[in-house]
Amino acid sequence: MSKQSTLERGAAFRRRLLGWYRTAARDLPWRRTRDPYRVLVSEFMLQQTQVSRVLDYYDPFLRRYPTVEALAGARRSAVREAWEGLGYYRRAANLHRLAKEVVRHHDGVVPDDPAELLRLPGVGPYTAGAVATFAYEQPVAAVDTNVHRVIQRVFSCQTAKVAETAQLLQPKRGKTAWSFNQALMELGALVCTARAPRCPTCPVSSLCNWYLKPGNH
Ligand code: SF4
Repeated sequence: MSKQSTLERGAAFRRRLLGWYRTAARDLPWRRTRDPYRVLVSEFMLQQTQVSRVLDYYDPFLRRYPTVEALAGARRSAVREAWEGLGYYRRAANLHRLAKEVVRHHDGVVPDDPAELLRLPGVGPYTAGAVATFAYEQPVAAVDTNVHRVIQRVFSCQTAKVAETAQLLQPKRGKTAWSFNQALMELGALVCTARAPRCPTCPVSSLCNWYLKPGNH
């Protein structure tokens, strides 16, 4: 799709997606905060782990380490113990290193610039975008596997163009961008799933190239 037609279809796509999100969004604890540290903890936990499992660990971890300073000052063995059961301990080690770096080099303030975020331990392009939009309400795309799949199906773009398309679709207002990025993820998690997309109930089906392709419904 050309940039122009993506932009034209983008307005209707955003409107429908946001309308759906208002009624269908799950109430998740990391959606009730804009605290960058809390957003970071959720993003690290959600890497390779399902939401239902993260829900068991998120609040207890934050009770134990309520601030980036508290985490930075913790012993490595204690952080590992708090992470026990979530698996992929490398994430806990990276989060711990990140907290120390934020305290040492950023006065305890998680950066809001995606380029600066990318320099922190364990932060890749997705997490940098997620913190920029979910903590700082910036119109910055956060492309995880769910978002990638939705964008690719709806706009039938090549893998190399997905991030650019997701950025092109960003609403101008930061608050709306926050909802839009959450909505994209939610659609990928609940409706546009990898194996069995629920196209007949999808709010953007009439705009979706994949669904409109002959033979797909
Ligand atoms: S119509 Fe189907 S393939 Fe298209 S976005 Fe919706 S669920 Fe995904």
